[in-house]
Amino acid sequence: MKVVSACLAGVRCRYDGLSKGRGEFERLVAEGKAILVCPEQLGGLPTPRVPMEIRGGDGGDVLDGKARVVDEDGTDRTAEMVRGAEEALRIARLAGADEAILKERSPSCGVRAIVRSGDTVAGSGVAAALFARAGIPVRSDEEERS
Ligand code: SF4
Repeated sequence: MKVVSACLAGVRCRYDGLSKGRGEFERLVAEGKAILVCPEQLGGLPTPRVPMEIRGGDGGDVLDGKARVVDEDGTDRTAEMVRGAEEALRIARLAGADEAILKERSPSCGVRAIVRSGDTVAGSGVAAALFARAGIPVRSDEEERS
C-alpha cells in the first residue's frame, strides 16, 4: 500500500483550493493500491489557506524545534503542520503503507525541495521528513514523472 498526497489524485486541498491531479495517482487509488492524505488539512488548516513557508531550515528542522512554519500573513503555523504530519503518519501506519509519494516543493509534502521567498531550495517538508524518520520511504511526484 502506498500513501499519496491527496492533491495529486485530484482532491482540491491545496492552499489555493485547487488540485494537481494526475491520472496515474488517481488510478492507484481506484485500484486500491494507495490511500490519500493531506497533512495540512489533517493539521486543522482551512482550504483555501494562506500560503506558508518554512523559515530557518526545512521540515526536519521543524520537527527538531529549530525552524518554524509561517504563513504570508506572519501567523505561525508550526503546530498545525507538525500535527498534520503526525496524523498523516498515523493513517499511513494504520494502512500498512510501505511507501509515500508526495508533492514536491510543498512545505508539508516536499521531498527534495521546498519553496522559500519564491525560490525553490533544497530541503524536505514537515510530513516528508516525519515519514522518512519513521522508516517509510518517500518519493517525489516528480521522480515518478521522470
Ligand atoms: Fe497536497 Fe500535501 Fe499540500 Fe495537502 S499538504 S495540498 S497533500 S502538497
